Amino acid sequence: MPSLGGTARLVVARALSTITTNQNAIPGSFQSECFGSAVYPSHFPPFFWCLAREYSVYIQNFSTLVFPRRLPQATSQFPASGSPLSLMSGLDALLNRPRPSAWQRFVQQPCIFLAHKLYTWRQIIPIQPIHPVSVVCISDTHNSQPALPDGDILIHAGDLTQSGSLQELQTAVTWLRAQSHPVKIVVAGNHDLLLDESYTGHRGDNFNAGKAAGKMINWGDIIYLENSETTVTCANGRQLRVYGSPRSPRHGNWAFQYPRSKDVWTGATPKGVDILITHGPPRAHLDLQRLGCDYLLRELWRVRPKLHVFGHVHEGAGTEWLQFDGLQRAYEDTVITGGGFWNLLWTLKAFLLTLFGTAAEAKHLLVNAAMVGGLRDDERRRPVEVMI
Ligand SMILES: [Zn+2]
Ligand SMILES: [Zn+2]
Repeated sequence: MPSLGGTARLVVARALSTITTNQNAIPGSFQSECFGSAVYPSHFPPFFWCLAREYSVYIQNFSTLVFPRRLPQATSQFPASGSPLSLMSGLDALLNRPRPSAWQRFVQQPCIFLAHKLYTWRQIIPIQPIHPVSVVCISDTHNSQPALPDGDILIHAGDLTQSGSLQELQTAVTWLRAQSHPVKIVVAGNHDLLLDESYTGHRGDNFNAGKAAGKMINWGDIIYLENSETTVTCANGRQLRVYGSPRSPRHGNWAFQYPRSKDVWTGATPKGVDILITHGPPRAHLDLQRLGCDYLLRELWRVRPKLHVFGHVHEGAGTEWLQFDGLQRAYEDTVITGGGFWNLLWTLKAFLLTLFGTAAEAKHLLVNAAMVGGLRDDERRRPVEVMI
């Protein structure tokens, strides 16, 4: 029979081990090397610990308050790919982690949660286009072939396939070519390996042979954009400039990816494009508030397209109107700097200004068009239809 002292030591050891496990479990992982499906923390540490952590990040980024608009160094919030923590949390995420409730999200990041509430609380008046063009947006179909509504333009924002093999790509392209839309525009995603000429990851002995064959894919009437621009003429005579890019921040060894700390976006998008298509999302918008790219967000402020379609973060699926005003800036600063009470106050001040100011028409629409979602990617969503 264990002694009283031994029992006490066991209890303390187990308590410490629980705290350690909880803190290590906070960085998320993901399913299928796309973000979103399984980034749910399985444990939530005490409220005061979260607040302290948020404040520590805030203090580290205090210079962003002194020098507003300065972009902080972007860092990955994930364990290194291939590390034991990465593998363990990935499997754990895949099998066990539930979707967090609003309360759990509040406890984890209270200032960011409240800033987001304020940001999404204001009234939005969507612009009514004079010569409307209907656009059907999809992304991350991952070999699925959902039924699509008719429209003037069909946009696929990448991840047509699951493993990027030649057979998968040919099947996906054949399916897209059979659609009735007069204009079809596609960019690749990190899963579409054979389309990335610079990709050198090992995917079996037949990969290089398949890679050469990938150049032979017959796109038919599909416009395939890879860091390039096109101008399309719609049935009503309206012309739209479109820029597309398959890039997304690196995690693991996949196609078209760049180090998260590297700025590949500044000046990349031609000024004046009407539609921007990227595989990855910008930071703070439809990206679970942490998985998008800081530099793409900054590029978005410069270019301000009428429509920006992306995917990649499966659980961020949805639409959002942007105003490019003080409230949006204050909310984004809160997210980028990791929260902070003063950032929240700035967001509240900006919110009150919009509340008592004149509401302007929203002219810029974001669409995260990810078609698959949920744990194990077993959910199927509907295409997003918009008028621009
Ligand atoms: Zn995906
Ligand atoms: Zn992806």
